[in-house]
Amino acid sequence: MSSTATRPSVQAQLLAELSDELTSLEAQGLRRHLTEVEAVDGPLVRIQGKELVCWCSNDYLGLAGHSALSAAAARAAADWGIGSRASRLLAGTTSWHRRLEASLAAYFGAEASIVYPSGYLANMGTLRALLSPEDAVFIDRLAHASLVDAARQTRATLRVFGHNDVSELDGLLRRASRARRRMIVTEGVFSMEGDRAPLQAMAEVAQRHEALVYLDDAHGAFVIGETGRGSPEAAGVPHERFLYMGTLGKGLGCQGGFVIGPRVLIESLHQRARTFIYATALAVPVAAAASEALRLAAEPQARERLSERAAQLHERLVALGLRPASAGPSHIVPVVVGEASRASALAVRLWDRGIWAPAIRPPTVPEGAARLRLSVTALHRAEHVDMLVEALRASVV
Ligand code: PMP
Repeated sequence: MSSTATRPSVQAQLLAELSDELTSLEAQGLRRHLTEVEAVDGPLVRIQGKELVCWCSNDYLGLAGHSALSAAAARAAADWGIGSRASRLLAGTTSWHRRLEASLAAYFGAEASIVYPSGYLANMGTLRALLSPEDAVFIDRLAHASLVDAARQTRATLRVFGHNDVSELDGLLRRASRARRRMIVTEGVFSMEGDRAPLQAMAEVAQRHEALVYLDDAHGAFVIGETGRGSPEAAGVPHERFLYMGTLGKGLGCQGGFVIGPRVLIESLHQRARTFIYATALAVPVAAAASEALRLAAEPQARERLSERAAQLHERLVALGLRPASAGPSHIVPVVVGEASRASALAVRLWDRGIWAPAIRPPTVPEGAARLRLSVTALHRAEHVDMLVEALRASVV
């Protein structure tokens, strides 16, 4: 008999290894599962026939289900079809992409903007385009995985500073004066903590060391700041001090990522950003819906409802001892419980009480810091907060 008949094929070997890994993740309570949402109605979802209040959506302003967005998308679909047909530099730049980029630039008071098919691709493409091995990147310890991946693939020297620790950052920058470019990488509102980067102090340190600051404001853009201009506006620092990135999938309820800035930066990204050059452009109905969402985001009402709800939840969680009063209200509220299995058990108890707030476990958050990540949206009403707080009171043991 030939040896190929008796030995497992290379593919079978791979599948056996993967299967062992899944079994081990399951045993550690770390296996991830996809939850199928069968219907959505405002803040409510139906899963396995059960109606739940969703506390895990990033649709902070409640625009994803807005009828004006679906109407804009439907009109664009009727006129253009769905797919954009090619990458942006081939046939993939439509009037809708142009219009969206012009509106984003105008919204943030920048000369120009570039839209990528996702925020992840915006980070990967932009950092790779601007940095190379002779440069140095300084990244917050809790920065999002897309920023870590983006920083790593530049092959620049990578230095990690403690979360929001500007004095450690200062020391690292002092020791890196020989790098060609020094780039600080941080989030505006941290996706798993809900707290904000100290942008004023960071901008000062950056200026002192002639460093650039790449600011991923995925969770701040359109959502915070008096007029929705995000973390720089909330911190009182002009956008021009940063290389500013945001997403269309959170505050605007659509999909995509963007960078705003001077025209020369944006045009250079057209030349150099591989995730822009080699990826199919954002679907046309999504670009049209995002333009409509941007128009709606200029109105203050949804932001006002959101901050009212966030303040209400914060106050109640402080009273329950589940949040420190000093943390202040945020639309992202971590309830840290420690071990992954405890977080999963808590999520199950909440589920039984009609609350959908899945556990966030390592490696998304550090070991021992598993949590529920509650995200507040403008769609939640006061009674939804009451229900959540009551369920937490009864379920946290
Ligand atoms: N940056 C941060 C801080 C994020 O939280 C996310 C999404 N979770 C991204 C980037 C990626 O954005 P997108 O989902 O549009 O790819």
